[in-house]
Amino acid sequence: MKTLRSVADLVNAGLLPPEAAAGVAGVAGRYAVAITPYLADRLTGAAPGDPLYAQYVPAPEEAYTTPAERDDPIGDHARSPVKGIVHRYPDRVLLKPLHACAVYCRFCFRREMVGPGGEALTAEELEAALAYVRSRPEVWEVVVTGGDPLLLSVRRIESIVRALAGMGHVGVVRFHTRVPVADPLRVTPELVAALRAEGLATWVAVHANHAGELASPAAAAALARLADAGIPLLGQTVLLKGVNADAASLEALFRAMVRHRVKPYYLHHPDLAPGTGHFRPTLAEGQALVKALRGHVSGLCQPTYVLDIPGGHGKAPAAPAWVEPRDDGTAAVEDFTGTRHTYAP
Ligand code: SF4
Repeated sequence: MKTLRSVADLVNAGLLPPEAAAGVAGVAGRYAVAITPYLADRLTGAAPGDPLYAQYVPAPEEAYTTPAERDDPIGDHARSPVKGIVHRYPDRVLLKPLHACAVYCRFCFRREMVGPGGEALTAEELEAALAYVRSRPEVWEVVVTGGDPLLLSVRRIESIVRALAGMGHVGVVRFHTRVPVADPLRVTPELVAALRAEGLATWVAVHANHAGELASPAAAAALARLADAGIPLLGQTVLLKGVNADAASLEALFRAMVRHRVKPYYLHHPDLAPGTGHFRPTLAEGQALVKALRGHVSGLCQPTYVLDIPGGHGKAPAAPAWVEPRDDGTAAVEDFTGTRHTYAP
């Protein structure tokens, strides 16, 4: 089986009833579709309402764009000094070597940029992007993202990692990827070896939104190959209605991550990407969910709830306040049951 890339492919694979095809044809023409054979197999028998299905199979609701939604919701373009680089914070940059992914998520924040054959940097453009990093001694961490950088060839990944390791001032490279849960057999021992280089700490952030994405022997083995190689793993999750916007789903996901040695890192409030309003809970709903988790799962299972400020201004923690300082130097502190206490130093 090949990767499913069209409405016809989805119908032929039994993932869309033929009568639903016309309703998503426009959406699939505008926003890329890809479901790997591995995921198509996992989706067998799934239907709208299933948390995995909702993430990958186009829906008619994507045709509606709200006035607040924008093509570049987190302002990548505004912060890009050189093609392939986004420089938002002083000590770190994003390096985006390609705009293709193994799968195309229906809520993607870069959905206007990613797609099949998604623009990859040429060898000269990649060299210019690396030269930018080389010329900025204040850059300590490079986040390799995209698209999905683990779609690059092992040779290309190795050359990027070695180039960064050779700069001296770059201490950390962090790969952001969906591959371990979308195409886990791609995480070969060779790929894992290519991610590491002497003198550089490699981290991998795995994007997963539902415990079901981790519940396969192949995904578990891919994560184990990375963790066993000594690569610390982080979890990135988008809070999505119809997928995980309830306390039980989040708890199950974060517990599953920790069991696979993936530390839940960020819980993203969904960005204002076009055609994604049906996925977006309110901030108040997100905060209530974060509160519901506190005390019921260990700190290991608690990511930071964040909101990317539209326009490229970076992330802001969006969790509710637990501590309220008072003018007299004391503070009101709420415990996980909702009971308030006074902290008086
Ligand atoms: S893997 Fe990431 S970049 Fe690619 S479609 Fe999904 S959210 Fe977007």
